[in-house]
Amino acid sequence: MTLLSLPEGVLSNQGLADLTSWKVGGIAEYLGEPRNCQQLVDMVQWAGAMGLAIHPMGAGSNLLVSDDGVTGLCLCLRHLQGCHWDASTGLIQAQAGEPLPRLARKAAQLGLHGLEWLAGIPGTVGGAVAMNAGAQGSCLAEWLVDAQLLEPSTGRYWHWRRQEMDFGYRHSVLQEMAAAQTPWIVLSARLHTNPGHNPQHLLETIKAGLAQRTKTQPYHLPSGGSVFRNPLPQKAGQLIEALNLKGQRLGGAQISTVHANFIVNVGGAKAEHIQALIHLVQERLMDEKGIGLTTEVKHLGTFD
Ligand SMILES: Cc1cc2nc3c(=O)[nH]c(=O)nc-3n(C[C@H](O)[C@H](O)[C@H](O)COP(=O)(O)OP(=O)(O)OC[C@H]3O[C@@H](n4cnc5c(N)ncnc54)[C@H](O)[C@@H]3O)c2cc1C
Repeated sequence: MTLLSLPEGVLSNQGLADLTSWKVGGIAEYLGEPRNCQQLVDMVQWAGAMGLAIHPMGAGSNLLVSDDGVTGLCLCLRHLQGCHWDASTGLIQAQAGEPLPRLARKAAQLGLHGLEWLAGIPGTVGGAVAMNAGAQGSCLAEWLVDAQLLEPSTGRYWHWRRQEMDFGYRHSVLQEMAAAQTPWIVLSARLHTNPGHNPQHLLETIKAGLAQRTKTQPYHLPSGGSVFRNPLPQKAGQLIEALNLKGQRLGGAQISTVHANFIVNVGGAKAEHIQALIHLVQERLMDEKGIGLTTEVKHLGTFD
C-alpha cells in the first residue's frame, strides 16, 4: 500500500447525511466503513501516515454533521456487528457496530434481564459506550464490564474496565479524548446481565417501553434524539416548552411539537437550520431564565 492509495473500504468525498438519523450534513473528505478489525487498523494507520484527523461514528443517531462537510477520515463502524452470548452467566460480548435495539431484543429472548431499556435507542454499542447512553432510569455504565479500545496513534489495543471510563450523565472519558482530537475507538464491549428470566416478560417490558416512547417522542420524523443535556434536576424539554418554542420552525427544521427537546427534520432541513434553532433555544433560555443549556448531540465538522 503506497501512502496515496486508499485502503480497502475507504472512499473519498462521500455524503454523510444518510449515515445520520437527522439526514443532514455534507461530504466527508474520506469515509471508511471497515468490515473487520484488520481493515479498521489499516484505515487508522493510513490516516496516521496521511496526517488525517479521525472521527469515529456509529449509527449517527447523536450527530449533527456540518453542511460544509468534514475533513479527515470519518470511520463508520456500523458494519462491525455480532455478539457472543453466555446465557448461563449472562455475560455478553458485543461488537461496536451492533445495533442497540437488536442487542436488547436478543438478550430478552435469551432470558437475560437488564438491557430492555436499550431497545428504543437507535444507536450502536460503540456509540452507547462513548455517550453512556441511558433511558428509563438505567444507563450503559451500569451494565458495562469492560470495553476493548483501539488507540489510533499507536495501534495498541486496551481493555478498560467500567471504573476507568469516567462515566457520568451522558459522559465518558472517550468524549474528552475526542474533544482533544485524539479519539480512541470502541471495538467491543462486555456487558453483564441477569440470566434466567422469563423471555416473554422481558419482551413485554420492551414493547411497553417502545409504546411509551412513540407516544411521547417524535419517532416518525428524522431527529438526533434529545438535543440538549438536562440541566439537572430540571428537564430541558420542559424548560423549552415553557418558552412556547414547540413548533418553532426554520427551513426544514422544527422544534418538535411532540417533545420540545427534539428538533425534527420535517423535510429538507439543513444542519445550519438545526444549529440556528439550537442557538435560539440557548439564547432565549439564558435571556429569560438565566439557564445555560449545552448540547447532548455531538457536532461533526465546523459550525459558525
Ligand atoms: C429517536 C432517537 C431516540 C434517542 N433516544 C435516546 C435515549 O433514550 N437515550 C440516549 O442516551 N440516547 C438516545 N438517543 C441518542 C443516540 O441514539 C445515543 O446517544 C446513541 O448511544 C448514539 O449511538 P451511535 O452509534 O448512533 O453514535 P453516533 O451518533 O454515531 O456517535 C455519537 C458519539 O459517539 C462516538 N462514537 C460512536 N461510535 C464510537 C466508537 N465505536 N468508538 C468511539 N466513539 C464512538 C462518536 O464519535 C460521537 O462522539 C436517541 C436518538 C434518536 C435519534
